[in-house]
Amino acid sequence: MAISRRKALQLSGVTAAAVAISGCSKAKSLKPEQTTKPKTTYKAPIANAKGPRVVVVGGGWSGLSIAKYTKIFAPNADVILVEQRHEFVSCPLSNLWLVDKIELEFLTHDYLQAARENNYTYFHATAIGLDKKNRILETSDGDISFDYLVFAPGIDYDYSRWTDDIAFETRLRQEYPAGFIPGSEHLTLRNKILNFKGGNFILTVPSGNYRCLPAPYERACVIADYFKQKKLKAKVILLDENNTITIKKEGFQSAFDELYGDYIEYMPNTVINNIDLDNKIVETDFDEIDFEEAAFYPHVRGAKILERVGIAKDAKNMLEGDINTLTYEVNGEKDIYIAGDSRPMGFSKSGNTANSEGHFVAKLIAQKINKTREIKWESPTTTCFSAISIEPERAIYIYTQYAHNKTDLAFNFASTTSSEDWLKDGEVNASSIYQWAAALYTDMFSK
Ligand SMILES: Cc1cc2nc3c(=O)[nH]c(=O)nc-3n(C[C@H](O)[C@H](O)[C@H](O)COP(=O)(O)OP(=O)(O)OC[C@H]3O[C@@H](n4cnc5c(N)ncnc54)[C@H](O)[C@@H]3O)c2cc1C
Repeated sequence: MAISRRKALQLSGVTAAAVAISGCSKAKSLKPEQTTKPKTTYKAPIANAKGPRVVVVGGGWSGLSIAKYTKIFAPNADVILVEQRHEFVSCPLSNLWLVDKIELEFLTHDYLQAARENNYTYFHATAIGLDKKNRILETSDGDISFDYLVFAPGIDYDYSRWTDDIAFETRLRQEYPAGFIPGSEHLTLRNKILNFKGGNFILTVPSGNYRCLPAPYERACVIADYFKQKKLKAKVILLDENNTITIKKEGFQSAFDELYGDYIEYMPNTVINNIDLDNKIVETDFDEIDFEEAAFYPHVRGAKILERVGIAKDAKNMLEGDINTLTYEVNGEKDIYIAGDSRPMGFSKSGNTANSEGHFVAKLIAQKINKTREIKWESPTTTCFSAISIEPERAIYIYTQYAHNKTDLAFNFASTTSSEDWLKDGEVNASSIYQWAAALYTDMFSK
């Protein structure tokens, strides 16, 4: 049966007006490439720069500090923060929220406020490409030209040591997320903990310079305490690829032994050979361990955007930033920087490290904008509190800076102090956690 032209248009949803327009276009006879070639450039909807433009990719602990302090140190800079999230949720202290000790509100912060109060622009988009020659950052919402560019995109997970099967990796990500990148992973993990009825709850610790060295041990402690308070017949099984607790060892080990003997089984030197998700069994060299719930923390690597735009290096397979480790500048690229957890230096991947380092990176950029004298490398500061118990609240902490060894070019802990006697100082330390966090949130989000 023949369908009339009018009927065909009705079925396709195309209106008569549209046909009229297309009729007009036809009369103008557009060249084929004009009708078929997709638009390749699209300028981001951002006002023209009024001063040297500094674009910062990533609004985490690093990027927020860099955006704010660049504007303070170089007030004529036009600073744009490109962030893919709508709001900031803090990883530090999130372990306390997982066990219902604090409200999510305390961890959640407002990018618009940060930008308003500190005179820069928050641009909600994902960075997807880089035109180095023309100094253009490509984002999901258009291109931004820059004079200075900083990547502070944090980490991504590397599941390749466990599997090369993408379907299996997807199951791991969705069913047993690590909970080391903020967002839905944390919500899933929290629900698992709060609804746990008993049995084995597996957590893992990767080797290498993973994000937040103490966090997996802290998480084991607070989950164990939560199960203990609920009088659950449950055990946290902590499978650690490292041969011992990687940081604050005295404090964590004594907590495992003295507080959670029946609730935590700590297994160092444990490499996972296989995870059977259907039967819920983890196989190691020596054991088969069944589990009711788990959060599998794989190895970490530099955020994928670095590799995508060709500024990652494959040292130790971590694909972190390929930079001069004293100036943060990308090797072979002028005025493009990488900072925060994506850096290749062996600093502790912590929020405090990223924040204090961010102040220094801002100084480096401002020095170039202001054309002032070169400044020397400054060590970041790592101050890291870890909860040991939630009832009563007790914590331990470590403070360190770093020294640069000019011979092997490594950065080693320097001026390190720690407070790990949780029986004596734990409650005082616990109250300091909140003061520390509030001070850092203020530093990143307020004037
Ligand atoms: C459970 C847990 C507990 C922790 N506890 C502590 C603690 O007590 N103390 C402490 O100091 N540290 C702690 N940390 C570590 C701390 O959270 C990280 O070291 C810190 O977040 C690193 O900051 P960053 O800015 O490098 O990365 P992030 O904070 O991850 O920020 C990176 C940002 O970049 C954005 N981004 C990535 N790619 C793109 C893209 N292509 N385009 C646009 N945006 C992009 C991301 O959305 C993100 O907002 C903890 C971490 C975890 C997971």
